[in-house]
Amino acid sequence: MSEPKYFVGLDIGGSTVKSVIIGPDGEQVGPIVEVKSLVKDGYEATFGQLDLAIAELCGNAGITVADIGGIGLDVPAPSSGGVIWGKANLGDDWVGTDICGLLKQRLGIPVTMTNDCNAAAVGEYAIRNKHLGGLLLVAPGTGLGGGFVLPGGHLYEGANGLALEVGHVSVPFREDDGSLPDCTCGLKGCMEAWVSLVALRRRLGIELRKQEWEFHDLNNDPGSIEEKAFKLRTLAENGDALAIQLFKQQGFILGYGIADLVRVFDPGLVVIGGGLAESKFRDRFMEWVKEGFNDRAWPIYRHSPIEPEKATTVFQWAEGGDAAASIGMAYTARELFA
Ligand SMILES: [Zn+2]
Repeated sequence: MSEPKYFVGLDIGGSTVKSVIIGPDGEQVGPIVEVKSLVKDGYEATFGQLDLAIAELCGNAGITVADIGGIGLDVPAPSSGGVIWGKANLGDDWVGTDICGLLKQRLGIPVTMTNDCNAAAVGEYAIRNKHLGGLLLVAPGTGLGGGFVLPGGHLYEGANGLALEVGHVSVPFREDDGSLPDCTCGLKGCMEAWVSLVALRRRLGIELRKQEWEFHDLNNDPGSIEEKAFKLRTLAENGDALAIQLFKQQGFILGYGIADLVRVFDPGLVVIGGGLAESKFRDRFMEWVKEGFNDRAWPIYRHSPIEPEKATTVFQWAEGGDAAASIGMAYTARELFA
């Protein structure tokens, strides 16, 4: 019988790498370890940082690298088969490189890779260790990402690892002049163009030009629209009418879009991630999400016809915070390589 193995999850972000190690029984060993990411300096520089993180994780767990049975890696970019397809927040040399293969060669340990939202979805699944159904994650942040875990805990990535680009499904909402908003992906009318920080900035700019908000404090604020948009969360927490109107629209459209995703996947559990999970007005935001959902979802997606008190789609906030992705990848590595 071989020795018990440990599994490492590495969440590579634009500014930091968050990492975690789990033991043979799946329990997290020691704290989350964070190192600077250096992604812009290329993958070689980042691999050096991963060495540092892995050394610290091993030190905390009292093991050597030889005790690691597999590594799960996630990146803020579309990837498939261990190769990154588009650059997103990474340096140029990442794209089209066999990242998994090179890292495996360097460390002598099997490596698997996916994108950050898929990783967070698995992490949220792993945290809820009594949950047996599916799990759909939607995470509004700068953009709008998503991930889907099948009942039983297997991540669904699609044929090319490109599934669950939930931010870029179209939604039937228009600006006051009837136009569809531009999305950062080049298309028009995507859900992300309504539900994201990018959307919040655009919508704020439009609203501040209206007579209704002529005397709003943000119209006398000398800051950029980016700086003003960052203030909206605190304003909403303090009951500001404009901030609430903007977040209410985001929540409603998110819920409306989720209704169509639920119609396709029937996940049973929808987890909302992103920074709003930590906001003080998250309960209100969740109500707006449910309003949008109820506007579009058939009754069967809300409650069972045989047990009316049983919800067929449950909404929860993400619980893993910014550690969810690294935890998810450690679990993925364990599932694949144990
Ligand atoms: Zn788009």
